[in-house]
This record gives sequence, structure tokens and C-alpha cells, in this order.
Amino acid sequence: MRTVMPQVTLHIGFDDTDSTRKGCTTYIAAILVEKLHELNARFIDYPNLIRLNPNVPWKTRGNGALCLRVKVPEADKTRLREMVVDTVERHSDLGSRGTDPGIVFLERASIPQSIRQFASNAITGIVTLREAKRIISEFHGEAVGFKQGRGIIGALAAIGEPLEKDHTYEILAYRLPQNCGTKRMVNDESIFRMDKATAPLTFNNVDLDKRRLIITPRGPDPILFGIRGETADIVKKAFDMVKTLEPVERWVVFRTNQGTDAHLKRVRTLNELEPFCPAIVKGTVCKNPTLIRGRHAIFSIEDESGSVDCAAYEPTGSLRKVVQQLIVGDKVEAYGGVKAPSGHHALTVNLEKVRLLNLIPLMTYQNPICRRCGKRLKSMGKGQGYRCERCGLRYDDLKKVGVDIKREIRKGLFVAATRSQRHLTKPLSRYWLEKRRQRREMVDCWHFP
Ligand code: ZN
Repeated sequence: MRTVMPQVTLHIGFDDTDSTRKGCTTYIAAILVEKLHELNARFIDYPNLIRLNPNVPWKTRGNGALCLRVKVPEADKTRLREMVVDTVERHSDLGSRGTDPGIVFLERASIPQSIRQFASNAITGIVTLREAKRIISEFHGEAVGFKQGRGIIGALAAIGEPLEKDHTYEILAYRLPQNCGTKRMVNDESIFRMDKATAPLTFNNVDLDKRRLIITPRGPDPILFGIRGETADIVKKAFDMVKTLEPVERWVVFRTNQGTDAHLKRVRTLNELEPFCPAIVKGTVCKNPTLIRGRHAIFSIEDESGSVDCAAYEPTGSLRKVVQQLIVGDKVEAYGGVKAPSGHHALTVNLEKVRLLNLIPLMTYQNPICRRCGKRLKSMGKGQGYRCERCGLRYDDLKKVGVDIKREIRKGLFVAATRSQRHLTKPLSRYWLEKRRQRREMVDCWHFP
């Protein structure tokens, strides 16, 4: 007689294991993937890499939390949990202040609405550890925290975002431990070639303006490079095109909310903006842009509810150049993190993108032209009329004429330079792809027998 082993669905979330000097939570995920395979766990999704609100003041580097979703035999559950806790503990930088790892286990076939809501709040705003713990106990989950255990917040949030809407993929290639901290050895040309062959299905590979690689991080973490794209298939193909000059220890494809603008919440009026909650909001330019410290462009927008400052920092490149051309009266939609600078009354939106909705005509006033010879007239003084220097004619009845100056910008959406984009920022190339995909889905949802 065959016995059927009862299976359970287990969601394993974890976060806040790394520090600026060591480690990477995605690397722990990569190790766990291998160990879970050995324990006969069956993956029901790609490992999920969920980026949380980049605007919170106490965020971890990159603010990315992880979730692994598996089916396991009921009997192996306990052994598996112990293995996960062991692995996270061993690979976390527990000696670093501010690294407070957390793990959450949730045994459920589907994700409850209140956990989804918690995740959404953690991606767009501020949540508390207390709230996380309350929800975990309500659904009989298990939380394991090291030190302050702040990572429990991200761990639960990662579980609560099953990426059913817009999402992307990232393949991450890892270095041998002994190579971490040294210069990353990759063939730059192969990466430019890969970009040419696979973009826009892959994105943010290189900065074409500065001929710089974006896929290789800086710093001592174990990531050699990461390629982002629309499907698991395309990021793997792109990975195969990259020539590395050092060994790749392992690679993993993650499904993620990167490049989706998931952090930006649309608010109706400027007074609905809150510090630390990234937003999209419309307003009319009420103060012309100025450069502060010679580098960063600042202007103000207003609506009937109030006004805020908008900042385009120097690294945003072309975005800063665009906003410098704005003038009072232009209508814009601002996208970005919201800060309350100390000593200021107004909030500041740190621009990730801006949509120019309406540009007012820019006029200059010139002296009229002589009706006889066409030469521009000379003013005789205020209220004294004009005189033609060529033919001597005088005009008392003419006024200055308004002339449109060509605006150096046009309506549309402008995004910060690739090198300064946040993990969650949706790059311009994805707008076009998204439309195409929607169209394909429309075709697929019809059936004619
Ligand atoms: Zn004349």
C-alpha cells in the first residue's frame, strides 16, 4: 500500500541580514534555495525579492526583503524550519549595529488580505514591528528575530506581496567568498553587447551616456552582477551572454517588484503628502527653479491646498536639465520620495520622474517694426512712441509686441538618469512594453470555438 504524505504550503520571509560591510539577503536566499531542494521542498514560485519603501529613514541597504514559497511534506516541516533559522543566523552580519535579522514562517495556501495590506503599507509607507507581530500571531505564523528583530517587518511584507500584478525578474550572479571585496572582474564589452541584444526586454544594464556598467554593484557584497528584465527566460539568456573573468559561485532568478513604481502612491492634493511616503502628485509651478550648491535644481509647486518644494539632484542628469527649464505657471506631475527637511516648513519631493502636463507660452516683448521699411523701431522713451532710424518715420500709436519664445522642453514623462534610479523606479522603456503586454493579454482572453 502506498501512503500519501500530507503536504503543506510554507511561505518563508526574511530580511535585514546584511550590513554595509558584509553580506546580502539575496545571497542567503540563494543558499536556502539549494538547501531546500536537498530537503525535498518543491518551489511554487521563483524566490521573491520585494523592495520596500526606499524612503524610510532606518531602511537597510537597498531595502529588499525575500520570500521563498514551497510545498513540503508535513513530516519535514520542523527540520526545515531549523535549517532556515540556522542558515540565516550563520550568514547574517550579527556583529554590525543596525543589522537586526528577522524570519517569518507562514503555513497557508493563500495569503490573507490583511497581510497583503501590511505589505502594501511597507512598500508605500511606514509600518511598525508591533503591527507585524500582531498580524503574525493572528494567522498563527512564527516569527524569529535576532537582536532587535526589525527584519520581521520586511519578512512579513515579503510574504504579503505575491506579485500578482506588474512584476519583473532579476538574475543575480554571486562571487566566491574569497573574491568579495575585490574589484569585480567582468568583460565590459560583453555587457554592452548583451544590452544591445536584449534591451528593452532587459533594463538598466548600462548607462549609455557615461558608458558605465549599472549591473555590477560597488561594495563588498557577494553580488557579481544582476540583470533585470521582463521574463525569467530573457534574464537567463542575457546572463549567458556576459563574459566573466572570475568564477560565478551560483546564480538565481528572482521574481520582484523592481522597476514597477510600486512605492509611489497617487495623492489628490499637496496637503495629502506625508513625510517618508513616496507619492505622485500634480501641481502648478509657483517658484522658478534655482540651483542650490551649484548642483541641485529646486522649484516649488502649488495647488489649492498648499505648496511643496521639488528637488532634482545632480545625479538625476537629464531630469535635472528638464526641470531647470520650468517656469511659473507650468503644470506638472511630480513623482518621488517625500522628505521634511529640518528647519523647513514645506515638504520636499525628491524627484524620480516628472510629467510635464502643460507648458505656458513663454513671451518676450519687442519694439514694433516700421510699416514702411520693416526695420525694428527705436523707442523714444516711456509713452513717447517709436521712431524708425532708417526712414525717420515716427509712430505714436504703436505698442510693444509679444513674441513667443520656443520652450526648450516638451510635454511628456521624464525619468531620472539610469544611474540614479531607485530599485523600484519604473524605467521609461517599461512603459512601452507594458502597453504591448496588455494588448497581448486582450487577444489571449478571447476564445472562438
Ligand atoms: Zn522705416
